[in-house]
Amino acid sequence: MEGELGLAGVATWHNHTGDEDFSYCADKNLALDEYARLLNESPWERMAVTDHAFALALPKEVAWAWEWYWEPAIYDDYRDYRLKKTERYLKKLDNISDGRMLKGIEAEVMRDGRLSCDPEFREDFQVLIGAVHYLPLVEAGEDKILQEFIFQTERLWQHKVHILAHPTRILEARKLPVPEDLLDFIVQGCRASGVALEINSHVPSKHDGMLLQKCLASSTAVALGTDTHHIDEFFDGGLYFAGLLKDVNHQALERILFQA
Ligand SMILES: [Zn+2]
Ligand SMILES: [Zn+2]
Repeated sequence: MEGELGLAGVATWHNHTGDEDFSYCADKNLALDEYARLLNESPWERMAVTDHAFALALPKEVAWAWEWYWEPAIYDDYRDYRLKKTERYLKKLDNISDGRMLKGIEAEVMRDGRLSCDPEFREDFQVLIGAVHYLPLVEAGEDKILQEFIFQTERLWQHKVHILAHPTRILEARKLPVPEDLLDFIVQGCRASGVALEINSHVPSKHDGMLLQKCLASSTAVALGTDTHHIDEFFDGGLYFAGLLKDVNHQALERILFQA
């Protein structure tokens, strides 16, 4: 069966819930049963629920302060909090009754290179997304920011996450240039490590079209992600992708679309 995007088995692999603080940044009405309802009305044939590893690991104020990135000992101090909340999250995901909804998580690396999701839970998730969510502020200078970006991105590849989320978003947020050789570096790194490159519609990037073309040309896997934080984004993402993929050869695209 083909979805409204004209692609077989098309899925959004990146969605947050907000009803139980498993993602601090998502709307409260985004609960699992709401997603089950939305899925039936949407262009998506499948989806993954991918809440934030850092929200499972740390209370809100600690998480947003980002000190734990530089000092992973802070992350370790909250071990009990993290284990309990992660188990609660997994129990919630066990309630999924629709086989089209997969269990996932969105994690990042810390300065010591560890993933913010404990290795013992890794196999519990059908979709493991890796993202760069934190970089030094603009004042740190371009070189330092880029160095951190590359460190974290390479670590995510080494951790063999399934999907590299919004690969250039944070550089764009820091108003840094994203030259074509950096796009090539990202595409080649994803390809070499078997990680799918995400095109993310939560904050569309002007590089999405070029990244997509480079992935098609090099047979690098691509994952579509609405990165839903508000209900509308679940549908608006479909429109964004329909526009982006309009002129792309769908048979070629289907061959590289990530499937969990
Ligand atoms: Zn993210
Ligand atoms: Zn996200």
